[in-house]
Parts: sequence; structure tokens; C-alpha cells
Amino acid sequence: MSQDVYEVNLFIDGSEVRPSTGEYQSRYDPGDNSRLIGRVADGSKDVGAAIDAARDAFDRNKGSWVSDHRLRARVLMKAAEIIRERAEELARMESLFAGKTIRTSRLGDIPRTIEMLEYYAGMADKVLGHSQILRTGDLSVLVRQPIGVVAAITPWNFPLLILARQTAPALAVGCTVVAKPASYTPATALELAKILAKAGAPAGVFNVVTGKGEAIGSQLLRSGKVDVVNFTGETSTGKWIMQNASASLKRVVLELGGKNPNIVFDDADLETAANGVTYGAFANNGESCAAGSRLLVHRDVKEKFVRMVAERISRIRVGYQLRDESDLGPLVSQSHMEKVLEYIGAAESEGLKIVAGGRRVYGGDFSKGNYVQPTLIDDTPQSSRLFKEEIFGPVLTVTEFGSEEEAVELANATVYGLAAGVWSRDSSKAVRVAERVKAGCVWINTYYTLPVEHPWGGFKESGLGRNNSVLAIEHYLEWKGLYLDAQPGKMKPYYRLVLGD
Ligand code: NDP
Repeated sequence: MSQDVYEVNLFIDGSEVRPSTGEYQSRYDPGDNSRLIGRVADGSKDVGAAIDAARDAFDRNKGSWVSDHRLRARVLMKAAEIIRERAEELARMESLFAGKTIRTSRLGDIPRTIEMLEYYAGMADKVLGHSQILRTGDLSVLVRQPIGVVAAITPWNFPLLILARQTAPALAVGCTVVAKPASYTPATALELAKILAKAGAPAGVFNVVTGKGEAIGSQLLRSGKVDVVNFTGETSTGKWIMQNASASLKRVVLELGGKNPNIVFDDADLETAANGVTYGAFANNGESCAAGSRLLVHRDVKEKFVRMVAERISRIRVGYQLRDESDLGPLVSQSHMEKVLEYIGAAESEGLKIVAGGRRVYGGDFSKGNYVQPTLIDDTPQSSRLFKEEIFGPVLTVTEFGSEEEAVELANATVYGLAAGVWSRDSSKAVRVAERVKAGCVWINTYYTLPVEHPWGGFKESGLGRNNSVLAIEHYLEWKGLYLDAQPGKMKPYYRLVLGD
């Protein structure tokens, strides 16, 4: 379990650099808060340099990055190959900082990052436009060009994967990037920058600036040299981003919070549903925007189904994130753990019934880290804070419904609209309900599988725009209309409006 203390520096214009401030923030192991694992550069005085590097690389078409789609495809493929070779090392780094279990990083984050890079590598030379011969014979050609510099601001729960999700499509179409990773988990962002450089990305194409969110973010948002901001994080931060991006009318992509319902009908295959619901609520420690954190279950099967889920929860092994056998690791930080425990405390004050878990895990090494038991809370009314607010931890609430109508109403009764699950053997009912749930993604008879081909993004306060899939490249492209004259003669009929006969 021993490892070095990582020094996470900035990456600007093709090189790893120390911060101008000379300052670093300390990072501690989520599984042992007394152990220093990282020193993270305060890049607050270096944001301008990173933006200039990205702007210059784009405007000067450095190394033919903007014009050579084959180069971009090769770089992304090569980067994927390097990540594959370094998979175990990167998985350990990711888990160490984030607290996610090593199996989650090995089987989820790292392979999906590779998938992301390879998928968009395949799109680099498939950015097509439209053309039309007008009735005059003139030619209207619509080409799509990369928009320019993209700021990618990312959260701590899937650090490398979300960074790849936000930037691979941008890179594929010829944009350049300034990335601002979350302060808790910046190490793999620096690694990605080094990997892309090794894979052949010209200097300035991919830059990383670490440091405190608002200090770095406000400079990225204020800058007229940044064209798009793609942000993933809390809804409240997303609102701030949108307001601040408006000064320069930047394009904004927002992937925000979720309070996702898993709707289990009485005709569902309950064994499969119990597996999916438990997985969906507790995957990645429940620290996931996609977490199915609200179980809505039909009255007729509720008691039985809650027992089935509670039994599965009792088998979840809480443990240090780098141990192979751990199913649930420590939460990312002490303050986040306290926030989650406060919600569980609120459940107790509201008189809700805690069916499983409900406590911090103490004793031995556990006392040093941010461990919370996987928790199941029964009979949670719509009025409860736990029903409405994103907890972002291993807490699943249960609310019963009696009809299809009521299920839809409860599903839609929060400000969020990111994802949902519907479980039923009646496929027409499942599709009918899926259509009426206001969410960017509705899984039917499964939960939380998100291959790169499948779009991801939210309705309502869960965000704007879609990442993943072919849709993602749209954020990074501008349409340009080229008009080619095909009419003979120096004097056009419309010139005569000014020049006369
Ligand atoms: P935050 O909103 O706190 O932070 C996200 C990123 O924004 C971090 O890099 C943070 O930096 C930065 N940041 C914070 N404040 C500002 C600011 N004023 N201006 C610019 N940047 C800022 O979210 P978390 O990291 O806590 O992530 C958890 C949240 O992310 C949850 O709400 C979750 O639902 C959401 N999320 C959504 C996903 C989706 O796909 N819809 C996926 C994953 C997470 P710093 O770390 O330095 O504070």
C-alpha cells in the first residue's frame, strides 16, 4: 500500500512546468486522511500562459494539428495504446486519489477512457458538411470547422474518464484544450497531457492547469481567447459557469447533478432488478451523477424487494480502495463524508427508517479514512430532503407507488433529469414510462451501462448538451457557408442595385 507522494505540476505548451506561484496544495489518501499522497500546483498565475499556448497552437495550426485529421486520429489512437500499456499504474493512481475501488478503475474508468480515445479517433476524418447547387447555378457549400480553444473543467468522481469524454471529441475535430481538473484528483490529467504529447500532439494542443476552482475557472471564463467551456460538476457551479461565460458569449456544455429514479414495477424480474438497483446505487461508492439513488417500487412488491436489496447490501465489502476485494471504498474527502453523514442524520431526524447501514465505518484502519456504510432508507416521502437533493454517496432511498401515473409523477418530482431506470416484463409499459420520464438517459431492465456510443447529458437542471456518441463533436464545430459564384459576367443583377444600369 505504500507509494510516493505525487507532485502534480502544470502542463503548458508541451512541457510539464512548476507553478509561477511556487505554491502547492496538499492531498491526502481518502482511505487514510493522515497520509500525504500528492502536492498539487496552484496554477492561478499560469492560466493566461496555458490559454495563450492553446490559442497559438490553434491559430497557427501548429504541427498541422488543425488541418491534418490523419495526424489527430493517429495521436488519439497512440494515446489509447499508451494508456492500455500503463493501465494498471493509471488505475492505481485514479483509485488512490478518488477513493474509488481498484476494480472500478480497472474495469471501468481506464478501459472506458481507452474506448473514448479510440472512438473519437475514428471520427477525426468523418466531419462532413453539406452542399447544394442553388437555382442560379451557384454553389452553397457548408463546411464544419473546429471552433478553437476548449476549456474542460472536470469533477473528481471519474477524473480521467470524464476528461477524456470532454476532450477526445474536441481534439478529434482539431480544437485545442486547456483542462482544469478537480483539485482532489488532478494526477491523471497531468498523465493524459504527457501521454498525448508522447503520442505526437504538437505543443500547446493539450494544456493542464491545476488549482482552486473559482480562481482558475473565472480566468478561463473571462478570457476572450476561449471559445467553449465544457463543464462537469455540481448544478450550482454549472449555473455560475453559465453566468460567467455569458460575458463573452462562450458556448457552454454542462453535465450536472442527478437524483435518478429506478422504477421497479410489480411485474419486473425482481432478482435482476435487485441486482441492477443495488449496483446502480452503490457503484463508484455512490459518488456518481448517474447513481440510481431513488428506488421507486410498486406497493405490491415493495416489502419483498426492499428485503432483496438489503440482503445484497449486506454483502457489499467496504474496504481500502486499492484492495482487490473491496466493493465500496472511502469517500473522496473528509468534508464530503461529513456531508453524506449529515444527510443520514437528517433521515434520522425526519423519522425515516434506516433498513441497512446508516453509519460511518469505524475501527482499526477504517477510523483513519472516509468510510460510510452502504445505506438503505425506507419510506422516504416526496417532501424529504433525501428524496430531492443529490447526496452523492452510498445512500439509497425507497418510495413506494401504486400506479404507473404515480411512478412517473414521483420520477419527475425533482429539479434534476439526468438518468432513470425502468424495470418491467411488460415492454410496452416500460417504453411508455421511459418516454414520460424527463431524463437524458433511461435504461430499461438494466442500469448504468454507458458505452461511448450512447449519448449522455441531462434534462432540466442536470445540464445542457450531450457528451459521448456522435453528438459530442457538435459542441466543437462551427458551420461555415462558402458561396461559389457560377454565373458568367462581371455585372451581377444584384450589383445593379447600387451601381445602376
Ligand atoms: P464541483 O462543481 O464542485 O467541481 C467540478 C469542477 O469545477 C472542479 O474542477 C472544481 O474545481 C471546479 N470548480 C469549482 N468551482 C468553480 C468555479 N466557481 N468556477 C469554475 N470551476 C469551478 O463538482 P464536484 O467536483 O464536487 O463533482 C461532483 C458533482 O459533479 C456532482 O454534483 C455530480 O452530480 C456532478 N457530476 C455530473 C456528471 C454528469 O455527467 N452529469 C458526472 C460526474 C459528476 P476544484 O476541484 O478546485 O473545486
